[in-house]
Amino acid sequence: MIIDTHVHYNLEPFFLGWQEHWQKAQEHGVEKSIVVGTDLETSQRALQIAQTEKNLFAAVGIHPGEIMQDKVFEKSFAELSDKINEKVVAIGETGLDYFHLENDAQKTALIAAQQNHFRAHIRLAKNTHLPLIIHVRDREETAYWDVLRILEEENFSGKYILHCVSGPLPYIKKALKMGAFCSIAGNITYKNAQHIREIVDTIPADRLLLETDAPFLPPQEFRGKPCEPWMISLTAAYVEKELRVDLAQVAENAQLFLKKLNEYNANTV
Ligand SMILES: [Zn+2]
Repeated sequence: MIIDTHVHYNLEPFFLGWQEHWQKAQEHGVEKSIVVGTDLETSQRALQIAQTEKNLFAAVGIHPGEIMQDKVFEKSFAELSDKINEKVVAIGETGLDYFHLENDAQKTALIAAQQNHFRAHIRLAKNTHLPLIIHVRDREETAYWDVLRILEEENFSGKYILHCVSGPLPYIKKALKMGAFCSIAGNITYKNAQHIREIVDTIPADRLLLETDAPFLPPQEFRGKPCEPWMISLTAAYVEKELRVDLAQVAENAQLFLKKLNEYNANTV
């Protein structure tokens, strides 16, 4: 059994006709998935999809790459918060992404805005008792350490996923001490992904998760094409063979992590 903890049936090229892609994913062993929102509209789509299909769940949030003014953010975020229902299993994706800000004259202001928006997501997760799905990316180490610092400053003690895990090993170790779950995407299969494979070696078996991040990050043999949700089966086969990852344990982690998912199932049986 495979649980995809991060997939975008709510984005093109999947949203129109997501049912077909979901069907194909199930034929490749995917049993449940979390459809992750990146802004107000795609969070609403995630909810719509999750309402239609028993084994699809939603995460709602505004991606740190979505640059918007505080006022616009606040309005969208309030609307999004109001829409949380029993099919929402996480808040995200949220986090910090300094990767594309390198040559931006507004860099300092944009970083401040990202951090404020991240804090808003953390507070919502605390209020709703939901886990966080965190996106972190940087050319340097700053964003990684900022994420952990802000989680501490906000006294966040809930569960959280570092989606498409990356970053320096000391950061990973600290994140694990702070309760992080680490999710591996298709880029683990890339020839130059030695660092990510090293990261996976340091993650205890009970903290590992799998994701596609479809339509992004296709496994090696489909590089250059959109990643399709069924391709998680290739990533799963790779980590099982090359990194001796126990897939049953990984699926169990996803179930445990998504406590709300279990409760939801129990209530609907
Ligand atoms: Zn994503």
